[in-house]
Amino acid sequence: MSRAYPPRTDAAGFATEAKKHLGQNFLHEKGVIAKIVQAIDPKPGDVVVEIGPGQGALTFPLLQRHGALTAIEFDRDLHAPLQAAARAHGTLRLVEGDVLGVDFSALAAELAPADGRIRLVGNLPYNLSSPILFHALDHAGAIRDMHFMLQKEVVERMAAGPGSKVYGRLSVMLQAYCAVTPLFTVPPGAFRPAPKVDSAVVRLVPKPADRIEVADRVMFAHVVRAAFGQRRKTLRNALQGVADASAIEAAGLRADARAEQVEVAGFIRLANLLASR
Ligand code: SAM
Repeated sequence: MSRAYPPRTDAAGFATEAKKHLGQNFLHEKGVIAKIVQAIDPKPGDVVVEIGPGQGALTFPLLQRHGALTAIEFDRDLHAPLQAAARAHGTLRLVEGDVLGVDFSALAAELAPADGRIRLVGNLPYNLSSPILFHALDHAGAIRDMHFMLQKEVVERMAAGPGSKVYGRLSVMLQAYCAVTPLFTVPPGAFRPAPKVDSAVVRLVPKPADRIEVADRVMFAHVVRAAFGQRRKTLRNALQGVADASAIEAAGLRADARAEQVEVAGFIRLANLLASR
């Protein structure tokens, strides 16, 4: 698509105005950047893949520390200045496009043939955080760990347990496949432009295949989605057409419980039972 006016740029060629529709809130606070790099702590041989490098706030310090990095960026106005500025720091391989179209399993097979797993990092575009998390889950076997900056409220939902008001589909889906560890919060002032909300950095470590208890991923996702679709309803009502009261009880759950009271293991038992029938 051609544009009448190219964006105004700074001396390095980066647009001076962030694109809101791409969730562009660029990190500038050096202390926060150092803390994230420290949390990632890349070791020789690690294959690090960054989602949304933007203007390089995390990319360049990671390159300085690790030497090489692959980054996936959608905004084509960023590609040339990012490549140019990266040269002073290390070897950047840039994947130009939408992260949701990137096959992490194929990328891991290509970049990390020995281990078959990559390390994902990124200050994510907040408007896409759930789709990116679910996309990563689909490739969890190809990912060693993930370090993401997200809205604090999203990180709270990811890590919540039963009984919490924010325990929901995201909590159950992520915790079935990953260990979720919130690391630290980041105030709006660390970004330019400043978002309206607090942010937080979270670490996700996918469980090894032999520790994942979900027998049928599609059935599990279906049950969890239905159960939380109407979270005020009892399981018996919310799961109509998916599981009847006898199946719910056979899985060791109370049919009059609500989804927000059910542990991750309970959803797994129910989905496994339904899948086995
Ligand atoms: N890492 C930079 C930083 O910390 O300053 C930028 C973070 S900014 C919150 C999110 C970045 O993701 C932006 O550079 C944006 O252009 C990019 N982005 C947005 N949607 C994307 C998508 N679908 N695929 C890849 N990158 C995307």
